[in-house]
Amino acid sequence: PSAGRYVGRFAPSPTGPLHEGSLVAALASWLDARAHGGRWLIRIEDVDGPRCPVGADATVLSQLAQVRLLPDAPPVWQSRRGEAYQAALDRLVAAGWAYPCGCSRKDIAEAIAARGGQRERHGELVYPGNCRDGLQGKPARAWRLRSTAGIGRAGDGDAPLRITWQDRRLGTQSQDLTDEVGDFVLKRADGLWAYQLAVVVDDGWQGVTDVVRGEDLADNTPRQIRLQELLGLPRPRYLHTPLVLGDNGEKLSKQNGARPLDLGDPLAALRRAGDRLGLPALAARTLPEWLERAVAAWPARRR
Ligand code: GLU
Repeated sequence: PSAGRYVGRFAPSPTGPLHEGSLVAALASWLDARAHGGRWLIRIEDVDGPRCPVGADATVLSQLAQVRLLPDAPPVWQSRRGEAYQAALDRLVAAGWAYPCGCSRKDIAEAIAARGGQRERHGELVYPGNCRDGLQGKPARAWRLRSTAGIGRAGDGDAPLRITWQDRRLGTQSQDLTDEVGDFVLKRADGLWAYQLAVVVDDGWQGVTDVVRGEDLADNTPRQIRLQELLGLPRPRYLHTPLVLGDNGEKLSKQNGARPLDLGDPLAALRRAGDRLGLPALAARTLPEWLERAVAAWPARRR
């Protein structure tokens, strides 16, 4: 893509049909791309095959088409991109940043207990780095990225790494990658590619300049920025949109039983999504009319 040209994307994981929250993310990324005169792409993030029912991808694409959110290029499926992810992993391994890990969950929990600290974040154990300096005879299960500032076996190489970044809505954000996240997985023990690696490789490959997605993904951003740095990829701009909360005040997700989108009246569905994004009520009788007015009302337009 030519320098400065906006490229945005919507990257659904087809674990089921879109729900109201995912339409908000889709609409936000589409509006932001249009308001910048940019291109908008759809990427099907089906790396976690077992969690993606057959046909859910087609359902998601047809739901997007029903609300006229149409991509400027054919969609890309991550399940067909394994070679690119492997090439990126090979590069990180060759440079000493990625390493094989032979730990089971139990090994990790035991190592954490031995250090006298419960280190858990969003239900995931912060990896204590057992295999950083070698597998000690265990077979390789997963591949991880060093979360430290350097590669050395001791001293400076293990210095913690803090990543600071700008979000267009949330402002300056910062995370200590080493302490808060730890050495994270790039390729899982079951052979599946981790979201973090796939998203970075594909955003780079597709020339994505602007990531617009739900706020629940904001704390993945430092991991992705680190991978961009190590793979020599440019850092996109980020905009994380407000989450849609269910009646119980919890984030609406397929996991907590969010209902699929009701597209019986596609215009009404778009209006509800626009509402969540803080758009004013727009006088429009048809989908194209509503979308056109929504682009004009999208705040980025005025910047
Ligand atoms: N596939 C991810 C999801 O559906 C979104 C990835 C992204 O936008 O970076 O939660």
